[in-house]
Amino acid sequence: MTAAGSTADPDRDRSADGEMDPVGRIDDLREQIRGHDRRYYQLDAPTIPDADYDALVRELRSLEVQHPDLITPDSPTQTVGGPVLTQFSPVTHAVRMMSLDNAMDRDELRAWGERTDRRLASLGLDGTVRYVCELKIDGLAMSLRYEDGDLVQAATRGDGRTGEDVTANVSTISDIPTRLGAHAPTVLEVRGEVYLPLEAFRRLQEQTVADNAAADAAGRKGRPVPVNPRNAGAGSLRQKDPTVTASRGLSFWAYQLGQVVGADTPPTHSAALDWLRTLGLPVNPETRILDSLDEVYDFCDHWVEHRHDLPYEIDGVVVKVDDLSVQSALGSTSKAPRWAIAYKLPPEERTTTLLDIQVSIGRTGKATPFAVLEPVFVGGSTVGLATLHNQDQVRLKDVRPGDTVIVRKAGDVIPEVVGPVLELRPDGLAEWAFPTECPSCGGPLVRSEGEAQTRCVNPDCPQKVLARIAHFGSRGAMDIEGLGEQQVQLFLELGLLHDVADVYSLDYERIRELPRYGDTSVRNLRAAVEASKSRPLANLLFGLNITHLGQAGGEALAEGLGSLPAIMDASVDDLAAVDGVGPVVAASIHDFFGDPANRRLVQRLIDAGVNIQGPERSVLPQTLSGRSVVVTGSVPGHSRESAEAAVKARGGKSPGSVSKKTFAVVVGDDPGASKVTKAESLGVPMVSAALFEELLETGEIPTGGGS
Ligand code: NAD
Repeated sequence: MTAAGSTADPDRDRSADGEMDPVGRIDDLREQIRGHDRRYYQLDAPTIPDADYDALVRELRSLEVQHPDLITPDSPTQTVGGPVLTQFSPVTHAVRMMSLDNAMDRDELRAWGERTDRRLASLGLDGTVRYVCELKIDGLAMSLRYEDGDLVQAATRGDGRTGEDVTANVSTISDIPTRLGAHAPTVLEVRGEVYLPLEAFRRLQEQTVADNAAADAAGRKGRPVPVNPRNAGAGSLRQKDPTVTASRGLSFWAYQLGQVVGADTPPTHSAALDWLRTLGLPVNPETRILDSLDEVYDFCDHWVEHRHDLPYEIDGVVVKVDDLSVQSALGSTSKAPRWAIAYKLPPEERTTTLLDIQVSIGRTGKATPFAVLEPVFVGGSTVGLATLHNQDQVRLKDVRPGDTVIVRKAGDVIPEVVGPVLELRPDGLAEWAFPTECPSCGGPLVRSEGEAQTRCVNPDCPQKVLARIAHFGSRGAMDIEGLGEQQVQLFLELGLLHDVADVYSLDYERIRELPRYGDTSVRNLRAAVEASKSRPLANLLFGLNITHLGQAGGEALAEGLGSLPAIMDASVDDLAAVDGVGPVVAASIHDFFGDPANRRLVQRLIDAGVNIQGPERSVLPQTLSGRSVVVTGSVPGHSRESAEAAVKARGGKSPGSVSKKTFAVVVGDDPGASKVTKAESLGVPMVSAALFEELLETGEIPTGGGS
């Protein structure tokens, strides 16, 4: 299929002899793009991913280059955004708000650099160009107008000349000062991006899901769950009621000067950003001044890798010529300045065809629906399968085999289906029904009252047995190298394994006779099985496949109750009294050990010699009792695990993320950018790695180590 599915199908514009009809195709593309513009800019509800939209615009642009006589001033290649709606009053921008030209790769970026150099040479402005590189925040462009230091107006970009007056809504954004610092000029227009930080976006998603569940129960229709921060942010801003905007947690980065009256404009863009900073406006700290395009590439490459370290979404890097007099010499086209270019990051959303929906069975019997897709290259790899999470998600998203669907793959996150492109749904496509029988054993699939998950309840379901044993051998559990899913499958088929305890009585003579097994691999497997007996008790507990019990719960139990026999015989109340074990998990553990078959299984593991003792109770002074210390980057003399263990040994907690409750963040070499940014924004003290031992000993923020 083409990048944009059948929306970009040029075949319908071919004449009978197969020749492309450029007039027809150009008209068709313009009509499609205008429809998408309307849904994106006015309704905040696009139906196709940005990459597919960009493909349509590129096709139109290339046809217009081949047929310049067909270019019209109202073509989407010549205009900015879309006309404004009447919900808000119109605002005429004193200085036009432009779009940006895009570079999709290094070659296009280099071509822009060369074009810029040639233009400057033709203007007699030879010399080295300095660039300012900024993150391209995926939000909504905003113009703020300050008069004598007071915020008097905020307007959206609209069509670049006329925007919408959203002053009341923008005034609720806490990042945006309503009064500038000292020495503000008579008039200052600031351009920047209003955006929804990822945490606020997730909160909004969760809130919508909860509201929808309540609406469903009351027989009312819910609202669509927001699918990305950009559109959720734009929708949050363009609310009739500013208190709704206020509740959403929008933020703002300033990145450009507009009109200035009553002050000299600084000579460079970077100096202008510094000025905005001193006036109290938030300017993104990742902005860099670079001297060559090679350094610009490195900056872009860095953000291709690290875009997910940020607490907000970016869709590219904006490269701007620093010198403002050079900027004005270069000028603009009807749509975008010539002195800037947006380097777009590879797309993380694409469309493809949903071939089928199938269900996989996990170790606890959880039936997870997943999408079988026409393979598509997205987020840096080819995706053929994507999760659909659970029954409600499929129903909510209403995806059907045969649909064109939007697939998202962001960073290390597993690929998911965002939703269908409804306008491309073929007529009569049947709704998908969740199966009532387990695809592995044919037993019933059951959904308990109040649970989001549907489960296969047959304890002997072959797929479940396979997943349980593979989990027992996995890294967070008994960590047995050479006992992955494939090997477990093979051993199950040969009758060498039936349950997790059989791992300790494997018939190695039989295994040695199997194809692809030799003396060395059997020796290695045996050694790995032997070594697993000394894993911490927490790993064993996690490996037992107790419903709801995760790694952290296993650790809490091992530490809290000290030994496997004590855990097996604990009452629900004793279990729930352990710090970090909630009532649902406690009940589940109690049920598990109340089942005689499970007790027999565990006894066989004990007989095989697995470790059943919890960690030694710490004798160190509990200096960090009840405090949460996050470690980021490498701390000399410690591995990540040992640094976290040192915090825990002093009674503290060492979670993986920073929150308002974090006592301190220990910053080692090469720290995670998002943790540092978050700590900064929340005002959490940061302690350098060199002062880590002092923090452990005293439980106080070392003087000179916090910020
Ligand atoms: P653009 O988004 O490619 O670039 C211009 C915008 O970048 C500015 O208006 C500003 O809002 C933003 N920006 C963020 N950080 C910036 C910075 N540091 N400096 C300057 N600007 C910065 O162009 P556009 O014309 O606003 O929108 C076109 C894009 O919007 C398309 O490429 C596509 O990604 C998306 N779009 C998608 C659909 C759809 O249906 N999916 C429809 C219309 C537009």
